Amino acid sequence: MRVLVTGGAGYIGSHVVKLLGENGHEVLTYDNLTTGNDWAVLYGTLVVADLADTERLRTVIREFRPGAVMHFAASIVVPESIRDPLKYYSNNTANTLNLLGVLREFAVERFIFSSTAAVYGIAEEIPVTEEAPLHPINPYGMSKMMAERILADLTRADPLFRYVSLRYFNVAGADGGNRIGQAYRESTHLITRALKTAKGEFEKLRIFGTDYPTPDGTCVRDYIHVNDLADAHLRALGYLENGGGSAVFNCGYGRGYSVREVVRAAREVTGIAFPVEEAERREGDPPALIAGNEKIRRDLCWTPRYDDLKYIVRTAWEWERKR
Ligand code: UDP
Repeated sequence: MRVLVTGGAGYIGSHVVKLLGENGHEVLTYDNLTTGNDWAVLYGTLVVADLADTERLRTVIREFRPGAVMHFAASIVVPESIRDPLKYYSNNTANTLNLLGVLREFAVERFIFSSTAAVYGIAEEIPVTEEAPLHPINPYGMSKMMAERILADLTRADPLFRYVSLRYFNVAGADGGNRIGQAYRESTHLITRALKTAKGEFEKLRIFGTDYPTPDGTCVRDYIHVNDLADAHLRALGYLENGGGSAVFNCGYGRGYSVREVVRAAREVTGIAFPVEEAERREGDPPALIAGNEKIRRDLCWTPRYDDLKYIVRTAWEWERKR
């Protein structure tokens, strides 16, 4: 199939582009390279352009005629979303709206959306299922929730338009081949920060909050290897191709690790007892997010292959050392 991938030069997008390419799909990546990298696009064509540039987008879609679109392009840093909410509503909500408008013009009817566990906010029940109420506690989660809402309304108005929204939990690790991995200019994510601290790029790793209502007082997250997540996208594509209806799926392993447990794993994998400092809570962080994943296992026949925190950290470490 011809698949248009927005944000295909980014961390998750580039892993999915690789998997699409390996599976014989024709890929066009549409990315403005603000956080992505051209070298990360291992298959297909790269068009460097912005989603806000409707004319350019129209031209690309008119020429490429995608059978499906995977929409990764977004801003994803929770603290930044609190400081600069308009950036998030613009990049994540308005650009999705814009993209959908153009897709409607060309009758592109299959859409796979990168959503997030941040739409749940402080979940009442853990693991959290897809039916749980959505109460995002930061503009990042809210911007994605609004885009999901637009998708739900659109499919209701026109059932020919079908989408899959994948709610990512904490994505980490790298493809074993060491050609792609997380390569943000500024890294805020825990595993990457920990490994960069082990490398000596940072003096110490700060643990944001030690008084959460969790077993050891630090936040708990469900870390999922990027290649398992990439596989979920290919399955979502197959599901839509086979006539599957619009649906939302959690993408996580169904178990959580605390910040302290991640630190321990990072120290063990690297063999470096890098310094940590206990710090204040970071604004916008829910105490715990763990995926209920029965739905994706059942409806997309998705089975995790890398459900192993040390493996995740090891692949991220190999990548980090190579960079
Ligand atoms: N975290 C931390 N120190 C850091 C980076 C993150 O203690 O240097 C914590 C953060 O407060 C959160 C968890 O690690 O509880 C995961 O944060 P991350 O930014 O990796 O992902 P998020 O869950 O915000 O998407």
